[in-house]
Amino acid sequence: MSRISILGATGSIGKSALALIAEHPERFQVEALVAQSNAALLAEQAINAKAKIAVIADEAHFSVLQSALAGTGIEAAAGESAIAEAMARKADCVISAIVGAAGLKPTLAAIKAGSTIALANKECLVCAGDLLQQEAERHGVKILPVDSEHNALFQVFDAKAPQAIEKITLTASGGPFLHTQNLSAITPEQAVKHPNWQMGAKISVDSATLMNKGLEVIEAFYLFPVKREQIEVVIHPESIIHGLVHYVDGSVLAGLSHPNMMTPIAYALAYPQRISAPVKNLDLAAIGKLTFLEVDHAKFPALQLAYDALKTGGTATITLNAANEIAVQAFLEKRIGFLDITKIVAETLASIPSHAVSCLEDVFAADAAARALTLNLIGKNNGMAA
Ligand code: NAD
Ligand code: MG
Repeated sequence: MSRISILGATGSIGKSALALIAEHPERFQVEALVAQSNAALLAEQAINAKAKIAVIADEAHFSVLQSALAGTGIEAAAGESAIAEAMARKADCVISAIVGAAGLKPTLAAIKAGSTIALANKECLVCAGDLLQQEAERHGVKILPVDSEHNALFQVFDAKAPQAIEKITLTASGGPFLHTQNLSAITPEQAVKHPNWQMGAKISVDSATLMNKGLEVIEAFYLFPVKREQIEVVIHPESIIHGLVHYVDGSVLAGLSHPNMMTPIAYALAYPQRISAPVKNLDLAAIGKLTFLEVDHAKFPALQLAYDALKTGGTATITLNAANEIAVQAFLEKRIGFLDITKIVAETLASIPSHAVSCLEDVFAADAAARALTLNLIGKNNGMAA
């Protein structure tokens, strides 16, 4: 039996993971489930999965969780320290699927306990890629990418011969506005409707601005032994090819699958074996053709911002991520427009000089400073619009 814990159980990735686990009861045992505030769903999931413990981050929802789990034998807990304690219990695999930098501390706690990490939460690598990899190395922990592009790359990347790799390509669907001319009046409702993927609100908006691909370039930098200049992005609206590795002899290996997160989740959960996933076969003749386009950087400047932040290094990627989290939230709450998201991230990056990061405290300080500045800029922006 493989013991699995899930950070972000009630989210899009968390739900898919639980559905997959339910298909393989002989193989997986659920340990801890963690979520932010949906205590009713978390309790239902914990009962269905026969989890050992359910932890709700927001303590205001603890009483709902506690009463829903009363008499079930499942432990209920709440708050940040309870999440850390639950992660300190070693699991065979922890699915890291909290959204945003909030996933960093719990993921680190899971690494320190020696649990393998199935990583969906790209933001924690963007904020603290070096520190996470150092901790993983120190504790002998594997980080298996769940993000579809990185999962595909992981499957075709010859880690034994990194010098034979010329470059890697991440594909991007282009999001819902690939062919939309004027982006100024885009609403949150339009932005969260992704053409190929069913995802949480934040990553859906990130896909629409292409910031998601920018975060993924940084994620790839920390997951694979490649230089920044070796990471390329191409638009591929069908989302069938997710990642490609180009070798010096001209060979190119690509990872293909339907755009369904069950596939990378299954790969990470069963690694190094494989298990079945409820995904239909890939019928190439039915798909007919696959198309590719260059990124329109003038229309989607977020991707270049991410490349630039990675080049700058230090706190720049932390600032990029924090500013983006705040700006996306403000857009979802209709406090700023769609085009303001990337503009405000760029302004925040321009206002905060980057400095070196040597410990986790540096990461949190840079994250907090960027959030405060971005909120301030949004306040001014609203003031101008009024
Ligand atoms: P989501 O919004 O659907 O779910 C987020 C989950 O995190 C929820 O369970 C929520 O309760 C929990 N959460 C949020 N803040 C928390 C906190 N402070 N403490 C504890 N729990 C908290 O998001 P999602 O689409 O499932 O994405 C999750 C992560 O996976 C993101 O980093 C995203 O970029 C990444 N990812 C998602 C997909 C996808 O298809 N959905 C694909 C690739 C990568
Ligand atoms: Mg992805």
